[in-house]
Amino acid sequence: MKKCIKCGIEKPYSEYYKEKTCADGYKTSCKTCMKESVRQWRLNNTERHNFTTKRWRKNHPEKVDYYHQTYRDWETDRKSTRLNSSHLKLSRMPSSA
Ligand SMILES: [Zn+2]
Repeated sequence: MKKCIKCGIEKPYSEYYKEKTCADGYKTSCKTCMKESVRQWRLNNTERHNFTTKRWRKNHPEKVDYYHQTYRDWETDRKSTRLNSSHLKLSRMPSSA
């Protein structure tokens, strides 16, 4: 049994993830607490990411337009490439003769 430093509940080692760097070979917090902290981290980071993106877009509207334009160009290019792929394949055939 090992006491989790987060929830303070004593749990069997099967309730802990393995961690080589820890003295007893297991994480200091139980699986439940680990999952919760990962969830929280994701939540916090998603918010931060969205905030940063929104702020950046607000400050750089011309760049957002540029990226949209680039993406559209890329999409158009990709589609036309696929349409012409048979032609491209023929023209790229190595001339062994
Ligand atoms: Zn715990």
